[in-house]
Amino acid sequence: MAILVCGGAGYIGSHINKQLNREGYETIVFDNLVYGHREAVKWGTFAEGDLADEAEIEAVFSAHEIDAVFHFAAYAYVGESVTEPEKYYYNNVVNTLNLLKVMKRHGCNKLIFSSTCATYGEPKKVPITEDMPQNPINPYGMTKLTVERILKDYQKAYGLQSAVLRYFNAAGADSDGEIGESHHPETHLIPLVLDAASGKREDIKVFGTDYNTPDGSCVRDYIHVADLADVHIRALHYLEEGNPGDFFNLGNTIGTSVLEVVESVKRVTGKEFPVTLSDRRQGDPARLVGSSDKARKVLGWEPKYGEIDVIVAHAWKWHENAGY
Ligand code: UDP
Repeated sequence: MAILVCGGAGYIGSHINKQLNREGYETIVFDNLVYGHREAVKWGTFAEGDLADEAEIEAVFSAHEIDAVFHFAAYAYVGESVTEPEKYYYNNVVNTLNLLKVMKRHGCNKLIFSSTCATYGEPKKVPITEDMPQNPINPYGMTKLTVERILKDYQKAYGLQSAVLRYFNAAGADSDGEIGESHHPETHLIPLVLDAASGKREDIKVFGTDYNTPDGSCVRDYIHVADLADVHIRALHYLEEGNPGDFFNLGNTIGTSVLEVVESVKRVTGKEFPVTLSDRRQGDPARLVGSSDKARKVLGWEPKYGEIDVIVAHAWKWHENAGY
């Protein structure tokens, strides 16, 4: 019995792949390496392939007895999804249908799916609970919501069990420093502030200081990738126990502003760097904070690394010593 990790060469997927191996699962990482890093696949078997190609998915399912699938493979640049929606709907939706088709053919009926708080759009209040309306404000969020709906229908019609995990802002790095966050191009706040601290960038730009938040900058809920890894394993156990499926918000319920992240990086690294107050970035909601009550109650999850300084410290250790 093996676990297929689609997109396991990416940031979140590689951390979950490591955790699965630690827990004694045999994994096969399936990744097209468009954004993933071959060096991040240090555990399990690697199979290079693309979910756009049904034959490549079929080859993996024929070669291994796959019991469950973790699906991280998606494009996730919000801005690009606005200018190139076709690319996002094909990759994130159509290619997921290819995966589900092969899973069904092989009688594999457990899926853990990476969704996002972007499915909620501009929330009316925070913290966001799972029962709040999902109205994405960009194509990226809509692709994820579309897959959520597909999974519901597949559950009813074909008995597919699925755990839908709606991430808030994944952050931090493996505490052993073996893997971490690296996107090309990088658009995420914490790696960019660390680049400013290490002198790889001239400054960090704060996108918007006139939001209706305590300090005027956007508030987000940063969740350590190790805590995400922990809850993914719990979600797998939940499906293994025979539950038909459910959906969970994964956040810390702690809102941290952009300016607070900048201060944390200064504190943790001891470095000074220029901070430029800039215009808003299009499409940014003012506050995204998630309630994790349901995941705590149903899955018994207890995030361990809630403090922003700990998240930043782990990310900094990775940033300084490794990187790919
Ligand atoms: N942000 C910023 N400067 C940057 C990158 C991001 O001020 O160079 C802000 C961004 O506007 C948002 C927050 O940092 O309010 C988190 O952005 P990120 O892209 O990391 O994650 P998102 O919340 O968009 O998923």
